[in-house]
Amino acid sequence: MSAPALPTRFEPKELESRWRAAWDREGAFRAPYRPVGPTFSLVLPPPNVTGVLTLGHMLGDTVMDVLARQHRMRGIATLWVPGLDHAGLATQVEVRRRLAKQGVRFEELPPEEAIREVEKWREEHERRIGTQARGGGFSVDWSRYRYTFDPASVRATREAFVSLYRAGLIYRGERMVNWDPRLRTAVSDLEVVHTEEEATLYFVRYPWADGSLGGMEVATVRPETIFGDVAVAVHPDDARYADAIGRFVIVPLSHRRVPVIPDPAVDPTFGVGALKITPRHDPVDREIALRHPDLAATTEIFDEGARLAGAWVPSHFHGLDREEGRARVVEELEREGLLLRREKYRHSVGRSERSDAVIEPRLSTQWFVRMAPLAEPAVTAVRAGEIRIHPERWTLTFFRWMEGIQDWCISRQVLWGHRIPVEHCRACGKDTARVTAVSKCEHCGSSELTPDPDVLDTWFTSWLWPFAALGWPERTAELEAYYPTSVLVTGRDIMFFWVARMMMAGYRFTGKKPFSDVYFTGMLQDEHGRRMSKHLGNSPDPLDVIGERGADAMRFGLVFPNPTSEDGPFGRPALESARNFLTKLWNLARFTLPYVPPGTGPVRGFATTLTFGLLANLFTAVFVSRVIFDYVLSRHQRGEALSI
Ligand SMILES: [Zn+2]
Repeated sequence: MSAPALPTRFEPKELESRWRAAWDREGAFRAPYRPVGPTFSLVLPPPNVTGVLTLGHMLGDTVMDVLARQHRMRGIATLWVPGLDHAGLATQVEVRRRLAKQGVRFEELPPEEAIREVEKWREEHERRIGTQARGGGFSVDWSRYRYTFDPASVRATREAFVSLYRAGLIYRGERMVNWDPRLRTAVSDLEVVHTEEEATLYFVRYPWADGSLGGMEVATVRPETIFGDVAVAVHPDDARYADAIGRFVIVPLSHRRVPVIPDPAVDPTFGVGALKITPRHDPVDREIALRHPDLAATTEIFDEGARLAGAWVPSHFHGLDREEGRARVVEELEREGLLLRREKYRHSVGRSERSDAVIEPRLSTQWFVRMAPLAEPAVTAVRAGEIRIHPERWTLTFFRWMEGIQDWCISRQVLWGHRIPVEHCRACGKDTARVTAVSKCEHCGSSELTPDPDVLDTWFTSWLWPFAALGWPERTAELEAYYPTSVLVTGRDIMFFWVARMMMAGYRFTGKKPFSDVYFTGMLQDEHGRRMSKHLGNSPDPLDVIGERGADAMRFGLVFPNPTSEDGPFGRPALESARNFLTKLWNLARFTLPYVPPGTGPVRGFATTLTFGLLANLFTAVFVSRVIFDYVLSRHQRGEALSI
């Protein structure tokens, strides 16, 4: 009559694999297709196929799992949708790096072969990510797994683009963009990291065009852009230059005549108060040039790799990169007696987050989303408490960014990504945007169409995720039953890339909020208080941690020290105490279970629900609690008597 006793030692390995298999077999986390009553739903922030899951992912996933299991155990229909992000540019960078090690240049592969390499990368990483997520014991609904590049996502992405395009909220324009010359693509403002760097400020004389002595003294940190100058600007109230305005100077080395113009944007305290104007390579210069329409139209002075090129650059400078070009220009200015002096100078330099290349501001034709009209309903919703942000202090940061929101540059000059669904007509010069492929121009009927060469920023798919992952634009049963989702759990570092944009997309495309609550997890630190990162090598592979200590210990060690989403440490001490706690829990169960009366239902009574809910969720000891749960259930089913 005695029930099988629990083993004396808590051994996670065997226990976890047994339960993982059982969950898979039973489809334990499959959400009902047509649920009755209230629902609880969340989308897993799809991890980038670029890498594998980190402990940071595991922290977020554990918080989500706690929420999902808690709701499921309360009898609420719960859907947790897993997915994977194709991560356009970022993935291409990784594949490019891997091929480079084999001596292959990604750019030189035929496009089909390049895509095959990317697909190979995806398969390997998708497998690894899946193993990691299963290892962590996360209760996602694998039957609803989605990929941001599966056919349904392609359709959703195109649908969203065309809808915004028709509403005049997407436009193509020549704008100043952040150009990454190493990856040869535009990147968004958010992908540029600004740091203070040491530089040299060069003071250069621009001689008077009429041959009179002297000239204008101009200070610049980028003398290599001198070839693109169209004017020298001074502040209109600067008494030093009252007589200079309207006169002409000669641009050194390129021997062109340009005017001295007045403009209030010039800072009289920078250098000597005179600014060279290079409209194609500086956003301030561009604005100034737009206010002076009679200035010469500029030509490009760099190629896509930021090497000097073009009609305005003397041929012996062609092909030099920015550093070489700068050195050579300085040398020639010195030789011509036009370099007056140099000073040390600290200034902010923007580098590409992906390639670390110094960003070149560049005037180029790109696609943009008008953000201000989209931001409005999201701001209103957060103000009204319709969407709540936790911890609340991030709400202020959210408002600050939303109020100064800039248009979003969504085109990328890379191979890996969703194609921009636009065809240019060679006959009439107009564009046709369509969800499905077109063969004729919608304006003139011509079939001389050229597809737009660019792809979309990967976030243009991700921002649709809460509803696209549920089947939008189709009116699927999932969308009906589980949208809006309940909670979004993510890191605050992607608040603007993703969270804010999802709110905008939600209201725009579904007329509803995408989620009710946003919970930002803390950032993990190691035992020494340093942020965990791949570069520092202080972020172990979660599977190693699970292999050594068990998933429950990892989950407990992640969540327990940081219950309020503060940044907190994870390491040996956290894992030790987690393991000790689990052993206590195990022993507690071992001694208590024989006294559980037969017929005790695992989820019927309030007390048992509470007990197991606490065990499984608050402490995230999922596998352990399943054993206890299972034990009680078996006794319940067998109606066994107490065996003491
Ligand atoms: Zn046409």
